[in-house]
Amino acid sequence: MATGKLLMVGAGLSGAVIGRALADAGFDITVVDARTHIGGNCHTERDPQTGVLVHTYGPHIFHTDDAEVWDYVNGFTPFRPYINRVKATARGQVFSLPVNLHTINQFFGTTLRPEEARAFIADAQADTTIDTPQNFEEQALKFIGRDLYETFFKGYTMKQWGCHPTELPASILKRLPLRFDYNDNYYSHRFQGLPEQGYTELVARILDHPSITVHLSTRFDRSQAADFDHVFYSGPLDGYFDYRLGQLGYRTLDFERFTHEGDYQGCAVMNFGDADIPYTRITEHKHFAPWESHAASVCYREYSRACGPEDIPYYPIRQVREKALLAEYAALAETAGNTTFVGRLGTYRYLDMDVTIRESLETARGFRDALENGRPVPTFFRSPL
Ligand code: FAD
Ligand code: UDP
Repeated sequence: MATGKLLMVGAGLSGAVIGRALADAGFDITVVDARTHIGGNCHTERDPQTGVLVHTYGPHIFHTDDAEVWDYVNGFTPFRPYINRVKATARGQVFSLPVNLHTINQFFGTTLRPEEARAFIADAQADTTIDTPQNFEEQALKFIGRDLYETFFKGYTMKQWGCHPTELPASILKRLPLRFDYNDNYYSHRFQGLPEQGYTELVARILDHPSITVHLSTRFDRSQAADFDHVFYSGPLDGYFDYRLGQLGYRTLDFERFTHEGDYQGCAVMNFGDADIPYTRITEHKHFAPWESHAASVCYREYSRACGPEDIPYYPIRQVREKALLAEYAALAETAGNTTFVGRLGTYRYLDMDVTIRESLETARGFRDALENGRPVPTFFRSPL
């Protein structure tokens, strides 16, 4: 059994999964989080007025191809099958997303079959002059053509990212599929579901170990590191250094809560493609728990904007300016000493929950390997660059 005192900064999935794996291995774990709750950005809580389980920091659906991670989460709390089916309101109509055969036929007023639709998009819509897309817009024009791009992606993306899609990497759009059948599952992964009692319950169970102590409303400062053998830091990389080189760019979100008697929109997530509607989407939380029954409903209108120093960082921007600054912070991090930077904020990457868990399990294994073999513990197990 290994021994030693370890500090996890952040009680989100990164801090919880690394902490639990190392508690199981014999270490003494302290977890601190500046917030009043565990769970990080996956936090869920019961809305006191309606009783609905709310995804406080935006909608979270668990989807993965990673069987070990799927077994891991299911081993802590029961998951219910859930398929994310997103709708989009654009130009006065409601469409199915991701773009699938239903979207294509509805949008163009056609009755195309799969191969006809594939040929129609390739021959009459997609921009065949683009060989290797250099940005989001080119990727979209090559992938689906101007009509669908301008209806579903251009306005939404400008609202979401606060810039023109030509300034964004093609990789953001590559996250979404294009389907020539009626499959409207937003994801293509083998496993998909939601924890019956919410993500905070999942994280509570991961942290439920006699060698783990959690301190909420406790902001980490670097002087605390001296009390521990090693620190795993899942807060913002630039925040660790008091933003001394400047701030890494993030988008933040504002959620405008409203309630409704009955069913407000008939689905969990409705996206809004039109640029003149200021919000990107409305989430109706009770549809994330179809196994529960609630007369009233609680919804969030979601607005995206630039992240200021006092705001919660949500989406890392990772454009040219940020990448240069990130390289400087990554170099500075090597001087931190006895600290490993982890998670979506510590490594400034957009990470889904399953990837966060996978990387956290590997980080804990890598940490033990390094100690056992007398090697230095890496500052980053996954390079942020
Ligand atoms: P976090 O959850 O951000 O946890 C970090 C914790 O550190 C926070 O609790 C914070 O308070 C704490 N902290 C920071 N600095 C300090 C400090 N100095 N002192 C003390 N505590 C500190 N993933 C999916 O798989 N499916 C989805 O549908 C999905 N939807 C998403 C929707 C949105 C809007 C966003 C932004 C993300 C979504 N994700 C989704 C990704 C998911 O949120 C992340 O994978 C996950 O939250 C990463 O966990 P983490 O522990 O690395 O970071
Ligand atoms: N997107 C869009 N319209 C939509 C949904 C997504 O333009 O209705 C774009 C947007 O730029 C977004 C990207 O596609 O950032 C990836 O979509 P995803 O659903 O993965 O966004 P996330 O879950 O990160 O909010």
